[in-house]
Amino acid sequence: TPSRQRILPTPRLDYRSVSENMVYKSTNALNRKAPLPMDAIQSVARAYTEFKNLTSTLNSQRNARSAVGERIRRSAEENNSEAKEAAMAEALKIKEEIARLEAALVVVEENLLSLALAIPNDTHPSSPLGPESAAVTLSTHGPEPIPATPERDHVTIARKFGLVDFESGATVTGSSWYYLLNEAAILEMALTNYALSMAVKHGFTPVTTPDVVRSEIAERCGFQPRDNNADPPVSQVYHIHSAKSPELILSATSEIPLGGMFANKILSDKTLPLKVVGVGRAFRAEAGARGRDTHGLYRVHQFTKVELFAVTAQEESEKMMEEMKSLQTAILNGLGLSFRVLDMPTEELGASAYRKYDMEAWMPGRGAWGEVSSLSNCTDYQSRRLHIRYKSSPTVFAHTLNGTAAAIPRLMIALLENGAKFDELGELVGITLPETLRPFWIGQNERQII
Ligand code: AMP
Repeated sequence: TPSRQRILPTPRLDYRSVSENMVYKSTNALNRKAPLPMDAIQSVARAYTEFKNLTSTLNSQRNARSAVGERIRRSAEENNSEAKEAAMAEALKIKEEIARLEAALVVVEENLLSLALAIPNDTHPSSPLGPESAAVTLSTHGPEPIPATPERDHVTIARKFGLVDFESGATVTGSSWYYLLNEAAILEMALTNYALSMAVKHGFTPVTTPDVVRSEIAERCGFQPRDNNADPPVSQVYHIHSAKSPELILSATSEIPLGGMFANKILSDKTLPLKVVGVGRAFRAEAGARGRDTHGLYRVHQFTKVELFAVTAQEESEKMMEEMKSLQTAILNGLGLSFRVLDMPTEELGASAYRKYDMEAWMPGRGAWGEVSSLSNCTDYQSRRLHIRYKSSPTVFAHTLNGTAAAIPRLMIALLENGAKFDELGELVGITLPETLRPFWIGQNERQII
């Protein structure tokens, strides 16, 4: 039975860097709209000074204890009972002082940790400042976007061909739950295998992951299972209630089990970079997003996702980010989609990303670009919390990156809305899917709609 206790050692945050760069850290937290208490950075710096002072006093007391121990030993040898008694009285005093200092240090350390855990990662100097609208387009790909029209709405297309059953989803689970049927069910598998095969060709090792994770692991990856800023606080994830188990949640992304796979490991630098690709189901409570973008498959509570994850040496993560970006670009290009790559601004980086690229595909039925993939370089934010290190001299924290290879529902929206075929009378007659998916298709395509 998994225990309720913490499974990982205390996160190793870089308090020194916070104390030495207070102006940067405060501005950075503001730029990212991090949910940080007022003057949290100053409090960390203060608590760190206190921590250093206490540690140094404690060390001198420990030295004094050794010296007194030596005096006790010597006076015993010399049969000098007076000196021995004096030394022993002193030793007792030092022992009490050490116990007091150690207890104080525990309190200061706990305070320091809880304050510093809320500080977001640093930000890449090129990341744009501001909200989502400040995103910078780095590149555009694929064919010219086709004109927007409501006839291309993916829900209309899916209903016409019996591809998605939202009603049964609502009956069996609730709103924003769905069944994929017929060609859509096959398309999910084909897209999954296509993305997997592309990732494997690019040197990523395939993994299937547990979709149930300890909330501790999610927190260490930078996910807040509860949004305490919301009023009342809402849960961002689905919790599993069980008397015996630890606090378990349904994973919001395979990034969590993939990151967790490397927790508490000291990797050989010869094995870096480590590249894995996971297939899993992502579960999202989407509590804060109710009502926004909930049409059809765009924002659902469960979806299949193929996820890329990499662990690199510190100086290699920016290069890896570009490598992962070109793999994601190749995957979307292979699907013939019109899409663009965005450099995401500070307010969109969350707690963990140092830099983030989003890929948005054109969805003509929606009449808008929609995010289909995301890529984050988390530098040492996750590795300091998960204890992912590699042998250098001395041991250092690795960098971690995660990116979407395929998030099925939104790819499906883009493929249905762009691929819809109409006859001369404007009647919807089928869907053209990219040839790239043919080797991954199961069955005979009897209905001839694809
Ligand atoms: P994220 O892990 O939040 O960066 O999401 C990765 C990708 O998953 C996004 O780019 C979307 O394509 C997709 N995605 C995220 N949330 C949802 C959702 N609630 N429903 C459907 N797809 C989603």
